[in-house]
Amino acid sequence: MAVVIIGGGQGGFQTAASLRAEGYQERITLIGDEPGVPYQRPPLSKGFLLGKQEQRHAELRPAAFYETQRIDLLTGRVTAIDRVARRVKLDSGEQIEYDTLVLATGARNRPLPHEGVFYLRTLPEATEIRQRLAAAQDVVVIGGGFIGLEVAAAARTLGKQVTVVEGQPRLMARVVAPVVSEYFRGQHEAKGVDILLNAVLLGISEKEVLLEERTRRPADLVIAGIGVVPNVELAREAGLPVGNGITVDEYLRTPDERIFAIGDCAESPSMFAEDLCRLESVQNAVDQAACVAKANVGHRAPYGAVPWFWTDQYDIHLQMAGLPTGFDQVVTRGDPESRKFSVFYFRGGKLCAVDSVNRPADHLAARKLIGAHATVSPDQAKDESFDLKVSRAE
Ligand code: ADP
Repeated sequence: MAVVIIGGGQGGFQTAASLRAEGYQERITLIGDEPGVPYQRPPLSKGFLLGKQEQRHAELRPAAFYETQRIDLLTGRVTAIDRVARRVKLDSGEQIEYDTLVLATGARNRPLPHEGVFYLRTLPEATEIRQRLAAAQDVVVIGGGFIGLEVAAAARTLGKQVTVVEGQPRLMARVVAPVVSEYFRGQHEAKGVDILLNAVLLGISEKEVLLEERTRRPADLVIAGIGVVPNVELAREAGLPVGNGITVDEYLRTPDERIFAIGDCAESPSMFAEDLCRLESVQNAVDQAACVAKANVGHRAPYGAVPWFWTDQYDIHLQMAGLPTGFDQVVTRGDPESRKFSVFYFRGGKLCAVDSVNRPADHLAARKLIGAHATVSPDQAKDESFDLKVSRAE
């Protein structure tokens, strides 16, 4: 018996660690294409850029962990999956047999069609950006999503002139309601960040970026955070179904019962969404890994964790629970002016998501409420005297 895991990110690492924690005794091979031990990515766009965190703080476990846990950590690229012979082929020519294969191949940065742009996903990329930030004066960030705004906040904190170029009419439009977008725009602008919305990038030269309507901004460093593309090619070439990610069932299994897919690369049914969904979050990678590990030791159960996310920009801690897709009503609890508030999203009268700004207790309550499919009305949610912890489950 052997488990082979492709991908040395959060999901791949957690699958190996959880298998051992669940008592799995057979061989585990974790194959990643980055050298070194698996590390966390969230600090790379936050404390790491500010010099508050170093590489060793980001490492998920020290090298000795893999030895004591008998996890074979292999650096290399898998080039093919042979489902009939049940083995994977590496670029080194090596072949490794599996009984169970876990695809945790993650995602890669979506590129811009311009030269001279830096992207942030890996430790070497973050290290290079950190070095270049030290020398830069004018930083232009393309994309006003999580990564872009975290990088903008770090650069501004380091005293740089910062411009954010966002194509949509508001920030973080993919994930939050307008009230949250507006709040973050206000906070960045108060810090002196130049936020350009509905902006169209035309070109980048050594000294500046050129936008539509003859807008120019000086730039000696351009960083893009414009979303990611899931790494699905291996699965597709192996004949597995792929949509907006490698398609799996509620057990995170592909139609090949020996192959699972988890994390950023996988799309799965969710009891919190109407369609298949592919999530890019630490929580999703960790919880899906644990679900697959359990299934491998005989405790098969459908995946059902409540999705949650977070972002840190300056001293603003935004935590999100649930999925707001298809929401038709939004209410706010607390006053954004107070810098502490939560936004509750309802779909057909049912609470589907909550964003909390510097209100961690609301976030924890929200995760429980959403997980329990509890009944909370919009009036109750916005009434601060209503205790979110005592709502009744359906
Ligand atoms: P990430 O996790 O990389 O931040 P998101 O999807 O959260 O990804 O955010 C990406 C942001 O980049 C979105 O707000 C999107 O509208 C924006 N964006 C995508 N392409 C462009 C572009 N060419 N110019 C400006 N903004 C872009």
